Order: sequence, then structure tokens, then C-alpha cells
Amino acid sequence: MRLTVLGSTAGAPSRTNPASGYLLEHGDVSIWLDAGTGTFMELAKRIDPGSLDAVVLSHLHVDHCSDLFGLYGYLAYGPSGDVPVKVFAPIGAAAHLGAFARASDEHVFNHVLDIEEVAPGDEVTASGVTLKFGEAIHPVPALVTGVEAGGVSLVYSGDTGPGSALMQMSRGADVLLCEASLQGDRDSQTYPFHLTAREAGEAADSAGVGRLIVTHIGALMDPGRSVDEAAGAFTGPVEYAAQGSVFEIEGRE
Ligand SMILES: [Zn+2]
Repeated sequence: MRLTVLGSTAGAPSRTNPASGYLLEHGDVSIWLDAGTGTFMELAKRIDPGSLDAVVLSHLHVDHCSDLFGLYGYLAYGPSGDVPVKVFAPIGAAAHLGAFARASDEHVFNHVLDIEEVAPGDEVTASGVTLKFGEAIHPVPALVTGVEAGGVSLVYSGDTGPGSALMQMSRGADVLLCEASLQGDRDSQTYPFHLTAREAGEAADSAGVGRLIVTHIGALMDPGRSVDEAAGAFTGPVEYAAQGSVFEIEGRE
């Protein structure tokens, strides 16, 4: 499995790094994991968006889903592709996203995108890739996503605070792609709907994952500090999801 970072800035795109979005490839299967602001063009530089097997939206905050409308336009009014493209997204997504496109049932939006709402505990397959969903702790319905294909596994936190299904879903995973929006130690004032880098490291440690990739780091923050703080709690490899980086994921012995 190959993970390409299309964008990894928390909250909003910066001038050099889009908001959250990743391309997962396994053989000739391609999945767009979060469609944050700016990631559609990064996706399109790498693959034909019309050939996507599926899109997964962890939640409907703008920095994780706005570029779905780039794909919609491409499929409906542009070069198009193999439609409909399956979109897995949290409960309420079909009405919410369709409203922005002013889409009635027969609208082209619903011909090119097939939105399937998924809930924590659900498991689906997309072209042979297994996708599992768990509860994330965030102000809107949000999912932790597990991806398995060819004996290799990756878990993506989406946006979440402590107490989510992340640790349970990550047990033994080859890669944990984990948000680390905050730096420093948590205290009573710390925002409850994101993780500190140290908490990302602790999750990786208790779940016994192969490697940790920290992501969703603000444009004004130093990712090196986030990596260091995560590495303080996890003895395995810790890397930053720098924009454009490619991670080849292999199963462990
Ligand atoms: Zn969010």
C-alpha cells in the first residue's frame, strides 16, 4: 500500500500545503482519504480523478471535505470518469453535501457521486480494500478509518480528541496516521476535540503499531516539535506527513 500526502495543514490550507487529504493506492486501486481544501489539484497531478475507486470523508469540517466539489465538477462537467464514484462519509453527509450542490434526487450530483453514509462499527469494501470505521471525538459526526488490503493495514485518526476508537482500531496496525493538532501537555484548558502530539505517540505505543505518522499540524507550528513530542511516548519510527511525501507501507514480519 502506498500513502501519498496531498495536504496536511490543520484547519485551513497554507500557501504551500493544502488542508487534509491523502491518496491511498494498493495495486491499481486508488482511494482519496479526506478531500480537504487544495487537495483536489494535488490528487489530479498524480492520478486521473475519474479513475478513483472511492472517497472517504472522515467528517464534514470544510478542511476535510470541501474539495469533494472539485471532484463533483470534474466528473459532472469536466473530463468525467468511471461514475458514480463511491463516497463513504458520516451520517448526515448526503443531505449536507447535496444541499451545497442544490441537488435533488435526479440531479447530476447524485449521478456522479454515490454517497454512502457509514457509522462507527461499519465495515465496507471498495475494490477489494476493506474499510472499517470507528467513533472519533469531535464536535460533528466524525470517523476513525481503518484500511486493510493485501495483509497491510493503516489507521487514520481523522480529527479526534481523546477517548475515541483510535486505540482499539489501531491495535497491531502497520501504520497509524494520526492527527497531532496540539503541542505541549494537556491540562484542564486544553481543547478536547484534538490530540496533542504526545497523545498521538501514546496511542501508537499502546496499540503497538509499526510506525506513526503525525499530521494535521497548523501552519504556524513547528512539525519537528510535534515529531519530538510524539517520539517521547513511542519508541517506534515517528515521521511527519509533509506535503508531497510518499510512504510505502509494508506488512511486518
Ligand atoms: Zn475537524
